[in-house]
Amino acid sequence: MKAWRRRQDTLDNMRLIFLGPPGAGKGTVAKKVSQELGLPQISTGDMLREAAKEGVPLGRKAKEYMDRGELVPDEIIIGVLKNRIIQQDCKNGFILDGYPRTLLQAKALDAFGIPVDRVLHFHLSEKTLIERITGRLTCRNCGAIYHKKNIKPKVKGKCDACGGVLYKREDQEEQAVRKRLEVYRRQTRPLIVFYQKKGMLTTIDAEGTPEESVEKVKIALRK
Ligand code: AMP
Repeated sequence: MKAWRRRQDTLDNMRLIFLGPPGAGKGTVAKKVSQELGLPQISTGDMLREAAKEGVPLGRKAKEYMDRGELVPDEIIIGVLKNRIIQQDCKNGFILDGYPRTLLQAKALDAFGIPVDRVLHFHLSEKTLIERITGRLTCRNCGAIYHKKNIKPKVKGKCDACGGVLYKREDQEEQAVRKRLEVYRRQTRPLIVFYQKKGMLTTIDAEGTPEESVEKVKIALRK
């Protein structure tokens, strides 16, 4: 713990990418690490869902792709990310959760001139992934994540944190999940080699609980 605290002095200005398939727990782990290190978590998925909820044109367009389990076109998402990453709170570091997802997005990030320090790749079996995503429940109000077997809310169908209604996202139905995994394999997985070649990649075994993954991330960042 002490060592982690000490190292944290230098970790709180890190620029990190969390890379991995849907269901790897990136979002949950990113949230905890973000709180501990005081780094903003930039989830492009959350940003798009927020835009869709507000009903703005970008959100309405993005929702069509998201519901089908497809990626939102690069030219849209690159603009969204760029506008976010230049904000003041990202000056001293950030955690990118869900970006980049294509080589073009990774190259665009390089072109922003904001160098990333580390890429953490969350790895786990397909069986675990499908089980995790199809059982997932999300709070309609605050976005908190539950699971019908692994992380049950205290009251069925209600969020522990805010009392909001829990629902199953449309992109978490089995068919859309399979599509998202196929998209991951085809479009996002090549990024593993891309960052490996740059010497930036560390793989995290994400089969366990989110808490275990958080510990593994802390260990990896200390190295
Ligand atoms: P997530 O919450 O990260 O799983 O993202 C949910 C959905 O948002 C994805 O399936 C995509 O449709 C869309 N999305 C999020 N981030 C990106 C990105 N970097 N590039 C393209 N689409 C994205």
